Amino acid sequence: MGLLTNRKILILGVANKRSIAWATAQSCAREGAQLWLTYQGDRLKENVCELAGTIPGTETAPCEATDPASVKALFEAIQKKWGKLDGMVHAIAFAPAEDLERPYVETSREGFRIAQDVSAYTLVALAREARPLFAAAGAGAIVTFTYVASERVVPGYNVMAAAKASLETSVRYLAYDLGPAKVRVNGVSAGPVSTLAARGVSGFTKILDVVKERAPLKRNIEAGEVGDAALFFLSDLSRGVTAEILHVDAGFHATAI
Ligand code: NAP
Repeated sequence: MGLLTNRKILILGVANKRSIAWATAQSCAREGAQLWLTYQGDRLKENVCELAGTIPGTETAPCEATDPASVKALFEAIQKKWGKLDGMVHAIAFAPAEDLERPYVETSREGFRIAQDVSAYTLVALAREARPLFAAAGAGAIVTFTYVASERVVPGYNVMAAAKASLETSVRYLAYDLGPAKVRVNGVSAGPVSTLAARGVSGFTKILDVVKERAPLKRNIEAGEVGDAALFFLSDLSRGVTAEILHVDAGFHATAI
């Protein structure tokens, strides 16, 4: 028996094989979960469906997470096919490039709104829509991904850092609201991993070098290590844990200089 045998898990945020969401999908599949992957639009459909095809039984559907109609359609499809949900993985983030590039003090109001909407509010909206399906399962687990820039300044992370702070606070408040229904909500604060989204942060390569030099483990992390931490939160191994943010960053968050 795997840690997630007979569990049905929805994973949002696979863009390609480098995505943290894809690493999480592989960890979950290894432990026997049945998966449902979403793609944001036609641009990513082929990629995601090709990846999904490598894990037998995996369902796919489009989901634009900021569009209530798209989210509703996704959960209706899951209700029809599965009738329940045991876990949901939120691996979605976006901020306009120009707002990531300019100094934080020059962040545009619209850029701030978009970063918060896509990267933080989508967790709240998705959790709300998932509630009936978790209720049908009798319990549930939600996992999202954040970054240490929410706690301390990482130059270049700017408007996304504020969105991650909001996301982490949402983890705690959602955990409080959904706890009585046996739904746990946790976050993984991942060290830098070279993905599409990460490449949008200016100076990303330098960040990798700094972590390697200063982190207690003297290396960067791999996406698979983040996926396995998400697996922990989705499985009964973490049954007593909610409202938690776990750093998977080779210990970098604990260092000062
Ligand atoms: P990624 O592969 O580029 O994944 C980001 C995903 O978010 C993409 O699939 C993207 O789709 C999706 N997305 C953006 N806007 C969306 C929307 N409105 N509706 C639906 N999906 C949307 O990058 P990643 O690094 O794996 O990111 C996953 C999560 O990990 C993010 O929350 C990120 O902030 C977090 N994280 C990453 C790192 C790192 O160093 N990589 C570190 C800590 C935390 P499109 O490509 O179509 O926009």
